[in-house]
Amino acid sequence: MAQGIPGEVLMNDELIKDLADVAKDAALLQGVLMRLHETPNSSECVTYAPFTLFPSPVPKAAFLQALAAQTHYNTLVDKISQDPDFLREALASTIAVDDFTAKLFRIHEQILKEGRSQSIVLGLNRSDYMLDQREDGASPLKQIEINTIAASFGGLSSHMPDVHRHVLKLAGLLEESQRILDNNPASGLAAAVAKAWELYGSKRAVVMFLVEDNQRNIIDQRCIEQELWKRNIPTIRRRFDDVYKTGSLDQDKTLFVDGREVAVVYFRNGYMPQNYVSEQSWDARLLMERSRAVKCPDISTHLVGTKKVQQVLARSGVVERFFPDQPEVVKQIRATFAGLYTLDIGPEGDKTVEMALSTPDRFVLKPQREGGGNNIYGSEICQVLEGVKNSTERMAYILMDKINPTPVQNYLLRRDAPLRISCCVSELGVFGVYVRKGTEMVMNECAGHLLRTKSSEHSDGGVAAGVAVLDNPLLV
Ligand code: ADP
Ligand code: MG
Ligand code: MG
Repeated sequence: MAQGIPGEVLMNDELIKDLADVAKDAALLQGVLMRLHETPNSSECVTYAPFTLFPSPVPKAAFLQALAAQTHYNTLVDKISQDPDFLREALASTIAVDDFTAKLFRIHEQILKEGRSQSIVLGLNRSDYMLDQREDGASPLKQIEINTIAASFGGLSSHMPDVHRHVLKLAGLLEESQRILDNNPASGLAAAVAKAWELYGSKRAVVMFLVEDNQRNIIDQRCIEQELWKRNIPTIRRRFDDVYKTGSLDQDKTLFVDGREVAVVYFRNGYMPQNYVSEQSWDARLLMERSRAVKCPDISTHLVGTKKVQQVLARSGVVERFFPDQPEVVKQIRATFAGLYTLDIGPEGDKTVEMALSTPDRFVLKPQREGGGNNIYGSEICQVLEGVKNSTERMAYILMDKINPTPVQNYLLRRDAPLRISCCVSELGVFGVYVRKGTEMVMNECAGHLLRTKSSEHSDGGVAAGVAVLDNPLLV
């Protein structure tokens, strides 16, 4: 067990019960809120977003390593997004069998054919990591994935530090409470959106949040909206359907929705097939991509976030190609890579199949999906691979080393769940923001962090998927 909250506090049932009550009120007070499952489109009743009672220990060196890598990851994502040949080659096998990625790719190709109508690029991404517990006692930082579209919880995580500081003080852990870092991704994300809006250069134009039908996590997004309004930047919230019905382009491809000129489209939707309820949603996506609004992300950057691209990057010589004169940067990025293996048709893919079938517990099988709950683990890997191993269907997946973080005891606070101690593992996310205009990087920053923790009995799933909860790192 890593060093963290003392056992006498964790095991004191009476104290825990009191702390949990206070913690929930502290979360409400700080605005760590979510709408209810039952009423996702109304704020009449809200509850606290699920969170841990205590912060979780994170080694300081690994934490700093993750922060330091972020601007390089931003650069990498941005460079790949400008390399259509690379994307074509990397995704060729995937799009042959994965309909969703193929549809995104088709939009990408159409945009390239027409020519991009906007030279301002806005990236808001989140690189996620776990610490791998090795037999030799080392626990290296390993990237789980990078999210280039709709990376969430930058808003709510901005309000989490004060919740845990308060809980720790109440538990008599004053010194620990001072080790909770300040964190404000909401402000950093908004600063980048604001920069893109400014460069677009029209005071009337709005930032449009493209949102889901189910708006349970609206408060997370409102945090960023508020930051924009503070800067007198108007925001609106619209769905694919609204854009389909009221969206249009004028002759210079300026995007209008409901009669408002749109400077920036910030996608908080559109990352999974179910988000596109009909062909009209796809038409709306295409309309936005063709427009001269700044897209966050644009279609190329969206594709960079696929698991297939992550796997291709791990091959030798690939990251190197994007940083030809910067071996130090390559080293920093590569240090965070876990083993990633192709399932393309050919001897290399055959080897991957064999390896996965003989030791499935060492791996995670991943389709090209987002949002949690899609990956395949353990014996199920064999079931799935047995079904697809002799067909091109296997190319829809990649295989990845399974990362095994050190479990830590904590309490997961969620509405209607009993208060009990759980064995937990954490995933550290780092927010990166950048703005480019033509060939000039105008902004490239790390914008804060997110710690999510889940019971170690769950292999998969994020906060929105109902598995992980919000947390803060306690640096050790
Ligand atoms: P998504 O885009 O759906 O979030 P992820 O790759 O982040 O996909 O996987 C979802 C979850 O599965 C992660 O949050 C993590 O809990 C778990 N997971 C993913 N990859 C690994 C891995 N290599 N080792 C251990 N757990 C993993
Ligand atoms: Mg993801
Ligand atoms: Mg993830």
